[in-house]
Amino acid sequence: MENNNKIDICSKNLDELKEILVSIDEKPFRAKQIYIWLHKKLVKNFEDMTDISKSLRKKLEDKFFISHISIEKKLVSNNDGTEKYLFQLENKTLVESVLMSYSYGNTVCVSTQSGCKMGCKFCASTLNGFDRNLTTSEILSQVYEIQRNINDRISNIVLMGSGEPMDNYDNVIKFIKIINSEEGLNIGQRHITLSTCGIVPKIYKFADENLQSTLAISLHAPNDIIRKQTMPIANVYSIREILDACKYYNEKTNKRVTFEYALIKDLNDSEKHAQELGMLLKNTLSHVNLIPINDVKERNYIKSSKDRILKFASILENFNIETTVRRKLGSDINSACGQLRKLYK
Ligand code: SAH
Repeated sequence: MENNNKIDICSKNLDELKEILVSIDEKPFRAKQIYIWLHKKLVKNFEDMTDISKSLRKKLEDKFFISHISIEKKLVSNNDGTEKYLFQLENKTLVESVLMSYSYGNTVCVSTQSGCKMGCKFCASTLNGFDRNLTTSEILSQVYEIQRNINDRISNIVLMGSGEPMDNYDNVIKFIKIINSEEGLNIGQRHITLSTCGIVPKIYKFADENLQSTLAISLHAPNDIIRKQTMPIANVYSIREILDACKYYNEKTNKRVTFEYALIKDLNDSEKHAQELGMLLKNTLSHVNLIPINDVKERNYIKSSKDRILKFASILENFNIETTVRRKLGSDINSACGQLRKLYK
């Protein structure tokens, strides 16, 4: 994104930064110094880059801008300490991110788009339609701002906030590479999970990136008929096509795929549905994450009872499918995707 024709410096990777510096008659090694200031030391101004000469700082100021996001609102859950951030971007766009603290570290859930085009019926991100893709720097800033705010290291990233990451593919891949880079926050690829509603050609492309990040697929149904009732993308790609793409991903990366399955009372949560899902996924390199759906008022979806969820899980386990039930964090602060932003629109 341009700002008074200036270049968004945090959206540039190290090679691109080198190239630009050379084009303005600077030494390429400066790129690494500047990159470290931006992506590891997380400075917000060129002024603060103290080992860069004043004249170069001035040059940088003229040519680039550092994208800023500000905390518009922060809510802390009384139940479990989950923090929900509502951020305002440069052009007043609002996006949200969530911080979850576990014994093994801090996880940030980032948004990749403002709004979403996918139209899943249970998801609040989609209710106000699509606004725009976030730039790489805007996705990075969510993590950087939270790390600055809590003054503690972020160790895990989930791309599970508002938006469909594979619908903003290039910016998202660049985000993963920058946040993973040694000169940046150096968050391990294995500690990064990308969740998609299943845009099949992009799953193949993602497999070919040779990243070690975890791929999560929002499946939410054991067959296409039910999936079409809640997820419009099911009219474009069948579950079979998604599973074929996942198999390719397994083969390329040797990694299992996580299937997310939000249980909605009487729609996809019966024993029959569990059997059907078991048949579909048995003998695949997969993991199922069962999620009690977060009620969204605008839709009439109610979460399944605890008994049903446990029964569902035990049926999958009979198929030897690794299954977990997601602990629901932050339910008192509207921490499901898009829920907070919606209140402020
Ligand atoms: N667009 C991507 C990532 C964003 S959503 C995707 O579809 O995967 C992150 C996860 O939260 C997805 O699995 C999504 O289906 C799920 N989700 C959305 N609304 C929900 C709700 N009300 N309750 C539980 N999970 C929900």
